[in-house]
Amino acid sequence: MKIDNLVFELTQACNQSCRFCYNYWRDGSTPLPGPDPVLARKTLKKLLSQTSVGTLAFSGGEPLLLPNIHDLALYARFKGCRVNVLTNGTLLTQDAVDNFKHIGLSAIQIPILSADPAVHDTLTNLPGSWRKATAAASMVVGVMPREACSVLVITRENAPGITETLELIKKLGISQVMVNRFNLGGMGLKNKSSLTLDRDTLKKAFADTESFAAANPGIRFVSGVCTPLCVMDPAPYPHIRFTWCSTDFSRRPVAVSYTGDVRFCNHSPHVIGNIHQRSISDILTDPVNIGRYATVPDHCRDCSLFPRCNGGCRAASEQVYGSFNLPDPVVEVGH
Ligand code: SF4
Ligand code: SF4
Repeated sequence: MKIDNLVFELTQACNQSCRFCYNYWRDGSTPLPGPDPVLARKTLKKLLSQTSVGTLAFSGGEPLLLPNIHDLALYARFKGCRVNVLTNGTLLTQDAVDNFKHIGLSAIQIPILSADPAVHDTLTNLPGSWRKATAAASMVVGVMPREACSVLVITRENAPGITETLELIKKLGISQVMVNRFNLGGMGLKNKSSLTLDRDTLKKAFADTESFAAANPGIRFVSGVCTPLCVMDPAPYPHIRFTWCSTDFSRRPVAVSYTGDVRFCNHSPHVIGNIHQRSISDILTDPVNIGRYATVPDHCRDCSLFPRCNGGCRAASEQVYGSFNLPDPVVEVGH
């Protein structure tokens, strides 16, 4: 079995506590376990003995909390994976970036949430994080300009300044930008009233991004969180590449945690098996698991857009309603 895209969550721990974080384990109620580098390595070895992976994204939590992150990245490279690191950037050092360059990473993704340090730091809940994240982005651009990527999570709080944020990202020399709408889950559920975008604000944010993208053809824009087509049609934004997940595991980012738990994707809270007990191909091809994700929500039953839209991000439905059989909760957000 080959898996094209896999998110490997190296730890649940993080030195930030972003108010929009979709990690299902991050609801502020329990202390999180610290990083376990030995178990992370054991699980990665097990995973790559069971399957070949096209692009493997190291995520978390914060992957730079793992002291053996370079060892793990090198191991995955030896196994033929393209390797991306999704980090908040605050722990990145020049040495770490130099090592990532030698290992041949395909992307280092850092959030730049606003041109205004106070807005960024309020969203991450960590004073000083804007300064560190922008410095880290500059460091990555200096060593690996083509692999530097920023992620901009659009919330109600940073949407009004999106053009200024994109100007900053351009000034930093970054040529790949992931523009993701705020997606419900984890800590985001606690902060949904202050972060959720109404439809007009969402469309305005993408219109501003589209204008910027049209004027800056050297920067590539991707939007990676599926948005229901009845909430926002991507047609007016041709300079942004919109991606949609699929229930077919070859067209979605399968998530595996450092303990070996497998989930539908990184937004889903539901564990469908553990690779230390069964192989990942057994887990992903298990008819019970396939059946769980093959449903069509009643709301979407007569919609001709369903084959493209799939009801939006239904991992968010699992987080909000505890069911995959309902459309993305963003459908409920008013006009
Ligand atoms: S969004 Fe990322 S950086 Fe922020 S708390 Fe969650 S894991 Fe940490
Ligand atoms: S499939 Fe469902 S969520 Fe998507 S456009 Fe149709 S009704 Fe909306």
